[in-house]
Amino acid sequence: MWNHADIAGIGMTSQRTRDRMVARLREQGIEHPAVLDTMRSVPRHLFVDEAMASRAYEDASLPIGEGQTISQPIIVAKMTEILLSSPNMRHVLEVGTGSGYQAAVLSRLVSTVHSVERIRSLLFKARERFRALGYNNILTRHSDGAWGWAGRGPYDGIIVTAAPPSIPDALLDQLSIGGLLVCPVGKQSGDQTLTVVHRTQHGFQTEYLDAVRFVPFLTGKL
Ligand code: SAH
Repeated sequence: MWNHADIAGIGMTSQRTRDRMVARLREQGIEHPAVLDTMRSVPRHLFVDEAMASRAYEDASLPIGEGQTISQPIIVAKMTEILLSSPNMRHVLEVGTGSGYQAAVLSRLVSTVHSVERIRSLLFKARERFRALGYNNILTRHSDGAWGWAGRGPYDGIIVTAAPPSIPDALLDQLSIGGLLVCPVGKQSGDQTLTVVHRTQHGFQTEYLDAVRFVPFLTGKL
């Protein structure tokens, strides 16, 4: 699918462009060295359509088809950093594979990523990318993520990359004790809050972070 030159990138997708993206992430408050290193090395330009490749390292979300978007680099970095704030983050579930970029970044930092996506055509493209890049610790499933992926849980971390009106119970059930879930919650695109839930021996603790803008979490498979 790709050769080494494609993966390395040229011009607007080159290593220098990626270094500038990482410098911006630092300015925006990302501190975790492994997160910054991973964002430098994963070729984001291969997760967007070719026509958009030159814009891949901009501080922007971009269309990936089917009305969906790849999140801005700062959002990917922030959600990844939140997950890694827990000391034993090995087994992660992502809801909303989309382009596969968030899963790709996570896969370099944890042992296994399980990722579910409701739109088949997006999932198939993401799988091709994982295969071509050799990201073999990402397992995917075509499914409505409201059900999580029970057979493979519980998970140390769950990351949701579309916004539901409230966090689905099945996801909370599949979170391990000591685990951490990060999810944008809210009904409309202008009214979502990045929400972090810690599961403890005694129950769930919820923390509300920044206002964010994600595509909606929808039900059913396409
Ligand atoms: N993590 C992705 C972000 C893609 S946008 C990336 O890095 O590119 C969010 C994705 O969530 C979309 O692809 C959308 O189809 C998917 N999604 C929305 N509701 C879902 C649901 N109930 N189950 C699974 N995926 C869902």
